[in-house]
Amino acid sequence: MIKDYRRYFENIPVCPHCRTELSCCEAPPFHIGDGLGWGSEVLYICLNDDCPLYVNGWKQIQEQYGHNSSYRYMQLPGSKEKNVMMVGTSDAFKGSVIDLAVVEQQNTRYLKEKEAVAALDTCVQVKNLEPVLALILDEAASLTHRQRAISLLIPLNDLDCIDPIRNHTFRDTALESACHLAIRQILDKNFKKECPHCMEIIKAQAKICRYCQRDV
Ligand SMILES: [Zn+2]
Ligand SMILES: [Zn+2]
Repeated sequence: MIKDYRRYFENIPVCPHCRTELSCCEAPPFHIGDGLGWGSEVLYICLNDDCPLYVNGWKQIQEQYGHNSSYRYMQLPGSKEKNVMMVGTSDAFKGSVIDLAVVEQQNTRYLKEKEAVAALDTCVQVKNLEPVLALILDEAASLTHRQRAISLLIPLNDLDCIDPIRNHTFRDTALESACHLAIRQILDKNFKKECPHCMEIIKAQAKICRYCQRDV
């Protein structure tokens, strides 16, 4: 899914307690307590550990409610309303700070995956290995898309798929075996084999490798 967070980074407000720029955080899926949504995918939160609101909050909550928590200043995008969030540790929300560069990278990857999936329909007809390889080698692509790409290796019958696949580290061993099985079939279909010594592709009937000159 494409996430467009750029607009949230245009006018980041500052914390009224410490004048530090607020952090742009992904909103948790629900309000703690009432089960309702935030009405925003992003929250601006002051994550400054020296913020007086946060520093004094520990004592204040301890005295008032008798538990070990503090406050972080919070504001919703497009709202001037001043809010606080209760936090139990100094790390709370630090893991959900949005890194715009990372989000943009994920978006680019997602668009490439989508493009490659669209190209699968015609790739055998037009003999285009590219989208098939793009999906097979993309560890973040969806499993079903990658499986479909693998199923097209044999109809594509392109020996150029071998090196990139052999050099890729698969996290999913089932996908890896399916690829290697397909490669075996493509080699057979083309009367080829891989030299067991140098891994170059040679004729199936060769007795000596033409690359490394060793017996095969
Ligand atoms: Zn602050
Ligand atoms: Zn060889």
